[in-house]
Amino acid sequence: MGRSYWFECPKCGYRAKVSGRADRGLGFFVQTILCRDCRELHDAVIRLRVPDEFGRLRKENLPRAQPGMAKPPSFQAVLNRLPPTGVKRFKWLDFKPQCPVSAIHRVRNWNDPDRCPKCGVYLEKGSLPYRLWD
Ligand SMILES: [Zn+2]
Ligand SMILES: [Zn+2]
Repeated sequence: MGRSYWFECPKCGYRAKVSGRADRGLGFFVQTILCRDCRELHDAVIRLRVPDEFGRLRKENLPRAQPGMAKPPSFQAVLNRLPPTGVKRFKWLDFKPQCPVSAIHRVRNWNDPDRCPKCGVYLEKGSLPYRLWD
């Protein structure tokens, strides 16, 4: 079960709802990243469970990322993914943490407690999860 939290900057008011660390659900793993180009926090999908039977699947169940492709799907895309039906074998695809806006953005892992991407002071974590996922 993964959890997203609100993180808020006490100085500039920047807010983000992210995991704030590496986290995982049943079908995927995320890592919160700081993008230096967007100056935003994002949850990057770093591992995705996919059916190991591509030929027999209906098209809508195929994840956008295929082996050998560099670009992972967005956090929102995997949340909205339909659960595969009738699939018995799965495998895991690994991705490098990547900004969902652009693959060439410079990112680093962001783990609470860590700094505001806008002004550099430590963000405050909301006490209740914003959302439970997967
Ligand atoms: Zn970016
Ligand atoms: Zn700030």
